[in-house]
Amino acid sequence: MTTTVDTPIVDAPKKYPAPERIVQSGCSFLIQEENPENIFISEEFNEEQRMIHDMVYDFCKKEVMEAIQNRGREFEITKDRDEIIQLLEKAAELGLCGVSIGEQYGGIDLDFNTTCLFAEAVAPGFSFATTIGAQTSIGSLPIVYYGTQEQKDKYLPGIASGQLKASYCLTEPRSGSDANSGKTSAVLNDAGTHYIINGQKMWITNGGFADVFIVFARIDDDKNLSAFIVEKEFGGISLGAEEKKLGIKGSSTVQVFFENCEVPKDNLLGDRDGGFKIALNILNTGRIKLAAGAVGGCKMSVNQATEYALQREQFNTPIANFGAMKHKIGQMAVLTFAGEAAVYRTGHNINMKCDQFLHEGKSENDSKLGAIREYAVECSILKVKCSENLDYCIDECLQIHGGMGYSAEMGIEMGYRDARITRIYEGTNEINRMLSLAELTKRAIKTKEVDLVGAGKKIPMYIFKQALPFKSNDGWKQEERIVKNLKVLFMALSGKAGQKLKEKMVDEQELVMNFADILAEAYIAESTLLKVQKLERKGIHKGKDLEIRRKALQVYLYEALDIARKAADESINGFASGSEKKTLKRITKILTRPYDVNVKQMRRDIAEYVYKNGGYNL
Ligand SMILES: Cc1cc2nc3c(=O)[nH]c(=O)nc-3n(C[C@H](O)[C@H](O)[C@H](O)COP(=O)(O)OP(=O)(O)OC[C@H]3O[C@@H](n4cnc5c(N)ncnc54)[C@H](O)[C@@H]3O)c2cc1C
Repeated sequence: MTTTVDTPIVDAPKKYPAPERIVQSGCSFLIQEENPENIFISEEFNEEQRMIHDMVYDFCKKEVMEAIQNRGREFEITKDRDEIIQLLEKAAELGLCGVSIGEQYGGIDLDFNTTCLFAEAVAPGFSFATTIGAQTSIGSLPIVYYGTQEQKDKYLPGIASGQLKASYCLTEPRSGSDANSGKTSAVLNDAGTHYIINGQKMWITNGGFADVFIVFARIDDDKNLSAFIVEKEFGGISLGAEEKKLGIKGSSTVQVFFENCEVPKDNLLGDRDGGFKIALNILNTGRIKLAAGAVGGCKMSVNQATEYALQREQFNTPIANFGAMKHKIGQMAVLTFAGEAAVYRTGHNINMKCDQFLHEGKSENDSKLGAIREYAVECSILKVKCSENLDYCIDECLQIHGGMGYSAEMGIEMGYRDARITRIYEGTNEINRMLSLAELTKRAIKTKEVDLVGAGKKIPMYIFKQALPFKSNDGWKQEERIVKNLKVLFMALSGKAGQKLKEKMVDEQELVMNFADILAEAYIAESTLLKVQKLERKGIHKGKDLEIRRKALQVYLYEALDIARKAADESINGFASGSEKKTLKRITKILTRPYDVNVKQMRRDIAEYVYKNGGYNL
């Protein structure tokens, strides 16, 4: 009798095609020139991506903005809890709760940059943007990226369909920015079957109605937290009252108490002691999405300000005609344009890096996470700058509405209050400023992924050449030079301070903030420049349309130089003295030489362009 040996069927490793192009690595923008053709701009989103944007935008506009107008008050979780839950379920029916979840689990698994576009589109949802953001991001991505097959099979279909509401429990009363210091404990029971969780979490979005909690707790005396998937059904969970907040009142925010909560051993997420890494990586993905949402909020501010300014008359003329109003609307449009350029440049780089890692044979999860980690510095910069742009835009939008802006009737004051949270969560802006520098230093010194030392050697010669004055009408040279100057200024000053202060630099936070501001200006300014150059080279805009965008770039550069000059001066006064101080001041003067452009006229032209369209159209 002959026997046949069954050959096991093993899936051949999936082959991924090479990425469309090799993108700049994280932070390399500082030391490498980028070709405008290599960056992605929002005009390149395809029809399908635009349809997703419009569908989400229309949903939020109809279900939230119009609902607020009809009822004459904002959503409040204490009064409208059931309606808010139904809204989340309605969004899930359209597939919106599964944007980052694989199709095999009922999600639609959008690529990373499209999830950023999604985040922009939910801006008209106001507090609902936070609710759906927690469901699709911090509440579910830990399972998407770190879950075992069994965990994914068990939880992701419910989260995608909206049957399960998700939340993320990291913060504690005594552990906020210092998130790894949490006291919530997890102890394996004697039978070795369950972890017993005890502790208290605070500020938990969606906590009031969540079925699933991603809980960070320390096992025994581990150095780092571990992560767990905890179901409400497990018992031992009680909730505090809904927090009374300044804004996002329609979003649930509660304390969550764990008292001998028994969590099956298999619900440990990722490795023991590996939870803090999960927490940080998930926050990284959230930062750029928060920035994209802020871009959406900025656009809405420009639109509402424009609409009001055109119809409100004072001194027998629409207020839109006054220079002071044009200044505001022009400046709001400039900040929106620049933020958008940087967000989608970075989002697409993350996509491309992910494709590169997949092609190199990394697993899908490692590729996605690795790509996001690669641009951690850029994500922190975007979080800080776009949230501060949003506060600027909504504040000026309120101002343009005068007394009506202050009244609850127009909804502007709600936007003003809602926007304020963006500077606090996903890591405060102070923490993100410090993170951007710390992460960059790590990449330059520890892992040597960015050769700042090599680039630093070329700085003296570069500065020497900059002593020559700008020439007008020299193509893009002037704008390119300003961007390069911002980068060199950052490298020169942070390098000098680093050499001098060494480890003490971390105690000089004011200097770190100054340098982080210069770094951020360099990145956003370059992204805006590359975008406008690409628009020209590809012929996407021509004539007046291109001219307006170039003006937006020029106003941005003018402001960026101003911010950088002030930050540079402050930092030099803070760490240098004698001849070194004099030299650094001279260098700053050369590198931040005033940009001789008529920003008054440019902002006017930009505002009029926006008026003509009846809203933001850059
Ligand atoms: C509406 C809302 C929703 C939230 N949702 C969630 C959620 O779903 N899940 C969750 O886990 N958390 C959530 N949070 C918590 C949020 O992430 C924290 O509030 C945030 O991380 C800041 O922590 P903290 O409030 O304890 O402030 P603190 O850490 O006490 O900071 C107070 C101030 O000190 C500054 N500071 C702190 N440390 C330093 C330092 N080393 N150097 C310089 N300055 C420093 C901060 O920048 C800040 O200005 C939410 C918060 C709010 C308000």
